Amino acid sequence: MQQTKLWINGVWEQTKETTELTAPYTGEKLAQVAKATVQDVERAIEGAHEAFQAFKKTTAYERAEILYKVVAIMRERKQELAEILAKEAAKPLTAGLGEIDRTIATYQFAAEAAKHVTGETIPMDAAPGASDRIGYTKRVPLGVVSAITPFNFPFNLVAHKLGPAFAVGNTVVLKPASQTPLSALVMAGIFKEAGLPDGALQIVTGSGGDLSDTLVMHPLVKKVTFTGSGAVGLKLKEKVGLRKITLELGSNAGLIVEPSTPLEKIMARCVGGAFGFAGQVCISLQRIYVHGSIYEEFKKLFVAETKKLVVGDPLDVKTDVSAMINPGEVARIKAWIDEAKAQGAVVATGAEFTERTCTPTVMVNVKPDMKIVCVETFAPIVSIVPYETLDEAIALVNDTELGLNAGIYTNVLTDALKAADELQAGAVIINDIPTFRTDNMPYGGVKMSGYGKEGIKYAVEEMTDLKFITMKLSY
Ligand code: NAP
Repeated sequence: MQQTKLWINGVWEQTKETTELTAPYTGEKLAQVAKATVQDVERAIEGAHEAFQAFKKTTAYERAEILYKVVAIMRERKQELAEILAKEAAKPLTAGLGEIDRTIATYQFAAEAAKHVTGETIPMDAAPGASDRIGYTKRVPLGVVSAITPFNFPFNLVAHKLGPAFAVGNTVVLKPASQTPLSALVMAGIFKEAGLPDGALQIVTGSGGDLSDTLVMHPLVKKVTFTGSGAVGLKLKEKVGLRKITLELGSNAGLIVEPSTPLEKIMARCVGGAFGFAGQVCISLQRIYVHGSIYEEFKKLFVAETKKLVVGDPLDVKTDVSAMINPGEVARIKAWIDEAKAQGAVVATGAEFTERTCTPTVMVNVKPDMKIVCVETFAPIVSIVPYETLDEAIALVNDTELGLNAGIYTNVLTDALKAADELQAGAVIINDIPTFRTDNMPYGGVKMSGYGKEGIKYAVEEMTDLKFITMKLSY
């Protein structure tokens, strides 16, 4: 069985303790994973700090070339990388290949961004008494970035940390999710082959909880970038002090479907948004508010489309939905569905369970305060709710502490713009589901869904300091 190591200062290091990694779908043992100690993380941070002293002096051209090389290597190894996702995350192969394609695009955006990190000229003579000065800004790297990533997009969400960090000359200590270390570790070899200097990327595996304080509060860490659950994100925010922090957290994405919508044309898209990767997506479609005049028709079509989905082995290309990340998650969502049923909700289809899977589940007759509605479910479950006016629908979508993406289907321009203004979300997606992201768009939630933005250009801003320089032109 594979025994993984830590990647510190360009050397694979064995640890005394390991933890067993099992496949979410089959339960088979995949690897013994190195368990880093606090001292290992401290050495990784110190090594990254050391590496920063040289890496910050590399040119934008050199850093872009490394990132372009990563793109080229990943293109050659797509199938192998998607299979890692299928095994350790139970991501169906087709979706896994999609994630690898997106990851390649993310690194490509980062390579391009490396060459466009610019400042501006300040018109110093616009201020009284400063006529003989020039002034300009430049963006400078911060130093060591601690990156903590979740299990659900283990290649692409790591790329959203490493890509912008390396583009600007930062170094990174990466702590991937305990369930998905293999996809992170394979990137160590890829970056090495691409020419990244040793120490610029350190990968420590182990329990996020145990390593948290060191990753977040070590004096040499200048920035924390975290993608994961709101509960953990909030804890990190409380202890980060004056360091920069970006938090990409969860949501319970809502969609409004207005009467002008051609239902047949959007159905496959809506079902895909609700059940892709078993709903374990931060912008998974969880709440669908449908105008009363088309509610019954929508429900009928949605349930019929849902029943077409194939639940099974992630390595089978026919599989649409595979295992949840662990049996505990299946038990949790079963309890939430049972609770909702006891409160009057009705299962329109799904809610069949094995130890590791939950069939795609559609709920109706739900109430706004049921857990399956107001809390992030992170599971293959969606609720369909009728409404009468657009104001009511907007209020229902906003009736949550969360706000990452929200969507509306409407052909009425003024209604689309009203929703764009009034929906409380980091992004409003018009005429598509909220489960939409390209890797160059600004991405990040409002309310309890996050703090700061990703999307390469925006992450570059969050991973640099703005420095001002002025020169007096005469004595
Ligand atoms: P999680 O349990 O919060 O874990 C995320 C990462 O944080 C893992 O590496 C985890 O390590 C680590 N961690 C756990 N406790 C920690 C602590 N006290 N201090 C520091 N790190 C800690 O989240 P998940 O279950 O992997 O991912 C699902 C969540 O991520 C969902 O809420 C989802 O919506 C959100 N998400 C958000 C976005 C976005 O861009 N907004 C994208 C994807 C996912 P261990 O694995 O070792 O516990």
